[in-house]
Amino acid sequence: MARNRFFIDHISEEVALTGDEFRHAKNVLRLREGSEISLLDGSGAEYSAVVAKVEREKMLVHVLEKRAGSREPQTDVCLLVGALKGDKTELVVQKAVELGAAKIGVFSSRYCAAYMNANKLERLNRVSREAAKQCMRSVALEVVYYEKYEDALKSANGYQKKLFACEFLEKSEGDIKGLSGSVALVVGSEGGFSEEEFALAKSYGFTGVSLGKRILRAETAAIALLSVVMYESGELG
Ligand code: SAH
Repeated sequence: MARNRFFIDHISEEVALTGDEFRHAKNVLRLREGSEISLLDGSGAEYSAVVAKVEREKMLVHVLEKRAGSREPQTDVCLLVGALKGDKTELVVQKAVELGAAKIGVFSSRYCAAYMNANKLERLNRVSREAAKQCMRSVALEVVYYEKYEDALKSANGYQKKLFACEFLEKSEGDIKGLSGSVALVVGSEGGFSEEEFALAKSYGFTGVSLGKRILRAETAAIALLSVVMYESGELG
């Protein structure tokens, strides 16, 4: 599969790259007639394609062959993380896509200092798409925002294992070894969680886990917990 990858909403035999994708293809990647590329429609399929014509505002592409993407994990892992300040949420989204999360939710909670708006959410989704292309995934993860913390917890209904990174636990309440199937993870924002929020998560079936004796930054905690879970699910190595 060609390394230059583009997400396209609807794939047919002839498609056009337009807008940002077109400018990137033309000016940065310097693709020309005959260049081989891969197209992704976000469904998990990959299409090999060749540039047929470069016009002023678009690039016409001829689709050659469809294949199933082969880089998606077997384990369905959902990461729910509190909204972080600055560009920290973007960092977490980028790393979560690389590590193989299947879903990413961002939520607001009691001690959360960051806010979210439509622009920021769009930016997170752009980061998600770019990360997917870069690490050769064929699925674009939609980042969902939950204004209510409880809605984020509810979004994990049906997951087989639910883990809550709790900074005030001395010891994990259950173990996180040998995971499979589906796993949902909750990590707090810079402000951390209240006892009530932890209790609520437990009422939704989450198990508290400790990530050691040090208090990690939220982004470190999210990336560390996701890495451990992917490892224990047999998705790394
Ligand atoms: N403001 C809080 C720390 C929040 S850390 C305080 O001062 O105590 C941000 C988030 O990272 C936490 O809500 C938790 O989900 C996770 N986290 C950080 N360190 C952790 C640890 N040692 N064990 C489990 N989770 C941790």
